[in-house]
This record gives sequence, C-alpha cells and structure tokens, in this order.
Amino acid sequence: VVLVAAERIVSVASGADLPVPEQAEIIDASGRYIVPGLMDANVHLCAAFTPELLLEFEGRYEEVIEEAAQVALRAGVTTVFDTWGPLRPLVAVRDRINRGEVTGSRIFLAGNIVGFDGPLSADHFKVGDVLGRDVVDRINGQWEFRVGRELLLLSRDEVGRRVRGYIESSGIDFLKYAATGHINSEFITFSDRVQRAIVEEAHAAGLTAQAHTTTPESLRMEIEAGADLLQHGNVTGPEVIPDETLDVIVDRRLPVAAFANTQTYMKWARAHLDSPVSAGFQTWEKNNRLLIERGARLLLTTDGYISTPRVLEHPQMGEWVRGPEFSMQLGESHFLWMQAVSELGMAPMQVLLSATRHLAEAYDVHAELGTLEPGKRADLLILEADPLEAVGNYRRCAAVMKDGEFVDREGLPVRRVLTAE
Ligand SMILES: [Zn+2]
Repeated sequence: VVLVAAERIVSVASGADLPVPEQAEIIDASGRYIVPGLMDANVHLCAAFTPELLLEFEGRYEEVIEEAAQVALRAGVTTVFDTWGPLRPLVAVRDRINRGEVTGSRIFLAGNIVGFDGPLSADHFKVGDVLGRDVVDRINGQWEFRVGRELLLLSRDEVGRRVRGYIESSGIDFLKYAATGHINSEFITFSDRVQRAIVEEAHAAGLTAQAHTTTPESLRMEIEAGADLLQHGNVTGPEVIPDETLDVIVDRRLPVAAFANTQTYMKWARAHLDSPVSAGFQTWEKNNRLLIERGARLLLTTDGYISTPRVLEHPQMGEWVRGPEFSMQLGESHFLWMQAVSELGMAPMQVLLSATRHLAEAYDVHAELGTLEPGKRADLLILEADPLEAVGNYRRCAAVMKDGEFVDREGLPVRRVLTAE
C-alpha cells in the first residue's frame, strides 16, 4: 500500500499494515508491481542533431523539448537529465513542467558542455560556408553563453570566473564540462588543474559536476578533478578502463553513466560497421562487463533523443544509428539499456537501482526522488508483471504516476512536432 497525498508519498507498507484514511481514493493494483519512476542520466531533449532541424525549428525549440519530455514520460521515464542543449528553452520548459502547467518528464539540465561551441561548429557539425555567420552565431549562441570553446585558450582563473558567471546566470541544475573533444574525441581539452577549478566552481555552488570523457586519460583526469558522476565513463577508445582507474571507481563507488547496446545490436554492428566504430562499441561492452563484475554503480544512460527517420537517415549521421535496437531513441532505449545490462549479467535488482535510486543519489536528488519512501515525490509505475522476473516486464506498464497524479499516456505527446512524421 502506497499512500499518496498531493504530490508526495505519505507512507508505504505491505498489505493490511497500513491504515487507509476513509476519504482516500483507492487504486487497486493487487497482483501488480509498483516501482519508482524510471530516470535517464543522459538525454538530449532538443534533438539538435541535424542543421536542417535547427534551422527549421528555430524559435520553436521549446515545443520540441516539451514533446520530447512527453515522449519520455509516456514510456515511464519520469525524470531526465539533459546533458547538452539550448539553455533558455530548456529552462523555460523545465520550469513550466515543475509548475504543473504542462505535463512531461521532470527535467534537470546542464545547458552547454563547458568548453564546446554550439551545434553549428567544429565541435559538432561542420557546416562549411553555406550558412551566414549571423545565422550560425545566433543558433550557437543559444548554447554557448561565454563558456564555449574559447575557454580552452584561457587561464585557470579566467575559466573559473567564466564558469562561476555561467552557473550564477543560467539556472542550470548540474555542470558538465568537456574533458575531451566531441568530434575530435582523441584530444584532451582542459589541463588537470583547470578541470579541478571547474569542478570546484560547481561544488561551491552546490551543483554536481561531470565531464564528457572519451579516453582512459580523460577519465582518470575527471576523477582526480573530483567529478561526482562519470558521464559515458565506459567510452574509452580502443582500450578498456585501466585497472588502476577501475579500482578507484569501485573503491569510491563512483557512479558511471554507461552507454549499453543489446546483443542484437552488437551482432549487427560486428557485421555492418567499420572496424574502429565497431571496436569502440566492443570497448563499451567490455567496460560494462568489468564494471558489473566488480559491482560498480552503473546508471541508466541513453543519450536519447527523438530519433525520427529524418534524423537517422541524415547523411551526417553515421551508419551506426541505423542498426536494430539502436541505443539512443528517447522513449524506447531505456528499455533496451536494461535489457543490455541484463544480458551482460547485471542482477535484476541492480538493474532497477541503476534506473532509480543509484541515479538519484549520483545526481544528489535522492531527498526527493529515486525510491518509494515517505516524503518523496510520488513518481511510480504500476507494472503488470514482476520486473525482477524478466527485464522485459518494464514494458508492461499499466500506469505512470508523476507527482502524485496519473499520467494520461494516450494523450502524449500533446502536440506533435518532430514525431508528426
Ligand atoms: Zn558527452
């Protein structure tokens, strides 16, 4: 019995132990299974993945974000962490959802990845000389806010000042910085001491910090800088995480937001993808196996976005997005992630914790979210069958409650924007 009043859980008990107030509305879930609302440690609600979409929907990013938050919620993801996107539209939608004006998955956001320029830049897409400088600057400016790539040229103190200014003026919920490049993912960006300064600024403001990391050395550097959560920490190029770093991750219980592919996808990848790309995915998998074996804390992480055919078939998207059970589809890939880590041997309860309690703790939001306990927000799923019996049972969802109210899943997304096709 879970007793809910307004948006919070009042008490939880089994069977007849809990006195139910006379005026209470009773939802009979007997024979079913109640779990906390699922969370995703890494999404991109504003699917800024093709220049055409950025231009076509310029001025409508809030609608795009709202739709994405609803696609996630419909599928049982009640909280998402947006790790790179246009600041103001994300803040506006986050606040509207939190005020209850529109429905959607609860959003926590980082805005820009400190050290990267906006989407129409050498860090993401090379747009050549087709677009005018004014258009490029206008769109990139929605990401950069003086914490773009120019920071790589600046002193430690100045980077610290810029980051502080960004935190104070932006309304972000957590900080993400670039420990390596994005397109040029083999390059380290900031020195050890600058990374430390960035993390210290986040901590001084009461925010968690994480890095975009893609090599064994950048992973080590972000850990030494004091990052709270290792964002796609299982992405380490052609080699697995070195033992010394793995030991630190395990000993300090550092949460690793890990990408994961199902065996169906991996089989396809081995047959269809060029060897460096395929080898990279194999490293993800080897790292996941090692982390699971060692009992490290993995977090459900999809990089999920609205992956319509138009996005996936765009010439600049690599062939790897077109495989079966592709791992970055918002509203679908959280199921695939749970399946993937189960296939690698993660125990059923650990799978659930990866998507709920461990994730809430990693982002320091566990006072409010992540478990079914008195005082916390009433975010929960009612499942038709036991998710600890079979991971596929997370798909058999009878109802989604967020903030104490049942979600009308049939009615989502309210307004079709990217999903209209
Ligand atoms: Zn990243």
